[in-house]
Amino acid sequence: MNVGLTTPILPANEAAVASAARYLAQGGLIAFPTETVYGLGADAANPGAIARLYAAKGRPAFNPLIAHVGDFAAGQKIARFDATATALAQAFWPGPLTLVLPKSQNCPVADLATAGLDTVAVRVPAHPVARAILRAFGGPVVAPSANLSGHVSPTTAEHVHHDLAGLIDLIVDGGAVNVGVESTIVGCFEAPMLLRPGGLPRAEIERVLGRALVQPPEDADNDSGQPLAPGMLASHYAPRTRVRLNARGIEAGEALLAFGPGVVDGVETANAVMNLSPRGDLNEAAANLFGYLRTLDTRGARAIAVMPVPHHGLGEAINDRLRRAAVDRD
Ligand code: AMP
Ligand code: MG
Repeated sequence: MNVGLTTPILPANEAAVASAARYLAQGGLIAFPTETVYGLGADAANPGAIARLYAAKGRPAFNPLIAHVGDFAAGQKIARFDATATALAQAFWPGPLTLVLPKSQNCPVADLATAGLDTVAVRVPAHPVARAILRAFGGPVVAPSANLSGHVSPTTAEHVHHDLAGLIDLIVDGGAVNVGVESTIVGCFEAPMLLRPGGLPRAEIERVLGRALVQPPEDADNDSGQPLAPGMLASHYAPRTRVRLNARGIEAGEALLAFGPGVVDGVETANAVMNLSPRGDLNEAAANLFGYLRTLDTRGARAIAVMPVPHHGLGEAINDRLRRAAVDRD
């Protein structure tokens, strides 16, 4: 892979598309044009690749990512479409509409990509280069904008190169993209909800639905840890079991979420132990985070004690999620 060297820019032809698909299959990172902005793509089913994607962007938090697929049938492999979702997909795909849907039973999208949620955001992009890459790869591809966190979204291959050269494997150059506005996001809950305005106007969606989109609650994505009505915008995965941070020892009845080679007092009494990364690798820890929290949540422990995680690299995003998981909810 090209990470660590300079990143090549290839004009979007058949060879570039084949090369992009190969990198995706190997867990690599590739930038490509969509009709909104340039996306940074990774195999949605590969947690290690997704951890590298967050690391390359320097994201301080694991926001859930949009899974891009080649067509409606590919979307049905990862999510459950009710009648409303089917109508919206048929009316607007391919195009700048993202649907947030319940995951399918054997949804291959990694927990890290959905931030541990039971829902997944799905879109079929319209850009011919994006579609060719999705077809050649054959699976869902997560693709947030191909810029460093906090920078503006890139609309040319040169913008991508400026931010991410040396951090990703390949940039496929399809020229300037025109929209520059992100996709509209609709949550297909009991009442369809406009989660983010974007490239597809609300009125067009409401015309197909024959009803108004509801607004998310005011505090839907704040940091206060306020509970949201189930089935609404559950933007943070929270285990039911209490979470205790910075644990240096185990208390009676606790499960342990460990990190690194160190040991904590009383570990032999723990109800269950999982280590995010025995060798202390933060990318590996990020890839395991949501899956391990979910597993420990099923063990009937009094609490999940979490060892300290260093705050550099992906540690910042890991600690952000752990802090949210630790907020008392009742
Ligand atoms: P983007 O910045 O275009 O990559 O879009 C990512 C955004 O999609 C996130 O910041 C979320 O707001 C939204 N999103 C993705 N997945 C979900 C989900 N499962 N539930 C709610 N919102 C989601
Ligand atoms: Mg962006």
